[in-house]
Amino acid sequence: MHTIADLHTHTMASQHAYSTVTENLHAAKALGFCALGMTDHAPGMPDGAIAHHFRCLGNMPPVVDGVRLIRGAEVNIMDFAGTLDLEEEILEKLEWVIASYHIECIQPGSRQENTAGMVAAIRNPYVDCIGHCGNPVFPIDIPAVVSACRETGTLLEINSSSFAIRPGSHEVCYQVALECARQGVAVIVSSDAHFHTRVGDHAASLDLLREADFPEELVVNSSEERLRAYFAHRARPLAL
Ligand SMILES: [Zn+2]
Ligand SMILES: [Zn+2]
Repeated sequence: MHTIADLHTHTMASQHAYSTVTENLHAAKALGFCALGMTDHAPGMPDGAIAHHFRCLGNMPPVVDGVRLIRGAEVNIMDFAGTLDLEEEILEKLEWVIASYHIECIQPGSRQENTAGMVAAIRNPYVDCIGHCGNPVFPIDIPAVVSACRETGTLLEINSSSFAIRPGSHEVCYQVALECARQGVAVIVSSDAHFHTRVGDHAASLDLLREADFPEELVVNSSEERLRAYFAHRARPLAL
């Protein structure tokens, strides 16, 4: 199993990331990737990009140097009702939206509360993927979250950065993978790179999926054909 795209990366527009989109694109190109997702932090994060950054992303071309630049955001789940930190008028313009919990934006609640907020985000028609759902700081009811994704087609992310920066993620991600395999729910493998040398660094996530004997056909970025099929059949179809 290998990957052909990285759809969770940050640029200097997130002030605690240090590369440009051009550097990230060159890194993706060097890996032979067909697509790069640009997903800077939305304004709920104290050092996230401003709303206008996301409003204007469409000014960049969809393909740069042969790499499909998927212009998106990593929005924040701000409360347990699933409120996001970008308004609908902007969300509908984006090609790809990851929604995540970050402690800079919300303090963890009970397992029930964390699950409710995440499920509400999963049901938001503009949310395509839940970022680092295996973060043990925000405990969730895994079968309930996976089941909500099965209903909506929302992806769950296996985030390679988590294993280093979110201790305890390995065990939770392993359980997420087992439950996704059981329910036939697709995942995406991401780097969450904050520097261009980390783009496409999916090794830790792929190791975990192999360990869980996870079916390759449920990893949407494990082949160009699967990624194209995912975007073509999504509720808001997108041509790659
Ligand atoms: Zn970040
Ligand atoms: Zn991120």
